[in-house]
Amino acid sequence: MSDTLSNPVPPPPDYNRTGVDFRRPMPRPKVRGTVYDFHSHLHALRHADAWFASADHYGIDVFLTMCQLEEAMGLQRVWGNRLHFIAVPKWGEWEGNLIDRWLTRIEGFYNIGSRIVKFWFAPPAIGDRKWRLDSDMFRPLIEEARGRKMAIMTHVGDPETWYRSKYTDTAKYGTRDEHYRMWENVLADYREQPWIAAHMAGNPEDLTRVQRLLDRYPNLYLDCSATRWMVREISAHRDEARDFFIRNQDRILFGTDQVSQDERGFEFLASRLWCHRKLWETAFIGPTPIHDPDLPEDQQPTIRGLCLPDECLQKMYHDNPEKVLRAVGVIA
Ligand SMILES: [Zn+2]
Repeated sequence: MSDTLSNPVPPPPDYNRTGVDFRRPMPRPKVRGTVYDFHSHLHALRHADAWFASADHYGIDVFLTMCQLEEAMGLQRVWGNRLHFIAVPKWGEWEGNLIDRWLTRIEGFYNIGSRIVKFWFAPPAIGDRKWRLDSDMFRPLIEEARGRKMAIMTHVGDPETWYRSKYTDTAKYGTRDEHYRMWENVLADYREQPWIAAHMAGNPEDLTRVQRLLDRYPNLYLDCSATRWMVREISAHRDEARDFFIRNQDRILFGTDQVSQDERGFEFLASRLWCHRKLWETAFIGPTPIHDPDLPEDQQPTIRGLCLPDECLQKMYHDNPEKVLRAVGVIA
């Protein structure tokens, strides 16, 4: 007993609870042409070696990334052939003449080739910052994107688990229905350029709502990014989700929401790519290697792979991303 106490077995890392060998070779996605990850956060040049090592291992060629403009320069210089940038504001500086500074940022990103603007309107933006996408305050930003013929990406909604835990104060945060009404107030006016709804329009738990949005707004695309969220909710209603993906295969962009950090090496980054590829491409059924802090220890998710048909994967990984990038003039 004293032996066990003095030499405890270290607990497995949260990104690999099940002991997967993430370095084991996996064939590239069965896709003709460049494979795109349309939603990611490669934040800094110093993170790029581990990032692209994992990307190469899992067959992902090009990333649409959201990082600060100051880092975008260095990233573009070294990795410009594998990156496109999505314009974001200077993070953490929300006071003062926010909108003017944000407009300048859009111009800066535009000048290095970015043609997509991201607006983050998850519940904390509404409850904590008191922002509304459909307010006069934000109208100049959306008009700027339209004037520059840029696509728009929005994050509206959040995991249902968070609405039931973090956002129960609806006087402060509002309700999910209100968040989607706010979004649609704007969507209805901007039907020309592509509009990308991040994280399955922020509501993979309710694909009926997502279908209604797709049917109502023909310029709307979804990205399927956010690993733990998708693993949990797509797997939870696997058959319905598979039908949804096949039915809407012209409207869905592959994305991971991979986020780089100093302490995140190959293994961490690989865990996200491994899960996405198992979830979309295979019929894998088994425990997720990544700990899901939204669920109790004894209810950790089981991945239930959608095993999507080849033509559907071809569109998610390649055809649809190129359609959007072509529409805004990023590629010819
Ligand atoms: Zn993201």
